[in-house]
Amino acid sequence: MEKIVCQTCLDAKTTLRCGICDEASCKTCSQIIDEDAFSFLPEVPDELTKGVYCHSCFESRVSEAKAHYDRTMEAAKNIDVFTSEQGKETSRIPRSKTIKYVIDKCESAEELTMRFAFRAVLDGFNSIVDVNIIAEKIRNGSYQTTNYKGSAVPANVEAKHIIKDKSFRHNPN
Ligand SMILES: [Zn+2]
Ligand SMILES: [Zn+2]
Repeated sequence: MEKIVCQTCLDAKTTLRCGICDEASCKTCSQIIDEDAFSFLPEVPDELTKGVYCHSCFESRVSEAKAHYDRTMEAAKNIDVFTSEQGKETSRIPRSKTIKYVIDKCESAEELTMRFAFRAVLDGFNSIVDVNIIAEKIRNGSYQTTNYKGSAVPANVEAKHIIKDKSFRHNPN
């Protein structure tokens, strides 16, 4: 492929092109982002899937979305997660009446939980309850893989909602 002068620094030659504006952009001036970098979003905007961005397009179209995505991911790691087996403990938690997350395909149970948590943070909740994950074996010719699917409901949990098993209680007051 013919090398063209980078339109940002006008110095280096490159074969890279910005996925948004199509201008030539050298490696130093480009931001290169994994295609699945925004894959936890329920719908990934087209302009976030381009892979290569010139400096100007990254600053104006991508950097804010990326910062928001990273903040959401950090928050998702810290939200409370209750499985469907904790029905007793979580019976007082007011669940969202309108939202239930369902995901059919995921490579691991941990990732699936994180995807539910991420969605809950996006929707303004601090926890997920009734998390139900099913592992299904999938035969693929001679080898077997496992697919994880399941559902979760977002909720805003406060301490008063959680019923602790008496046998675990350290402070009887
Ligand atoms: Zn450059
Ligand atoms: Zn550009």
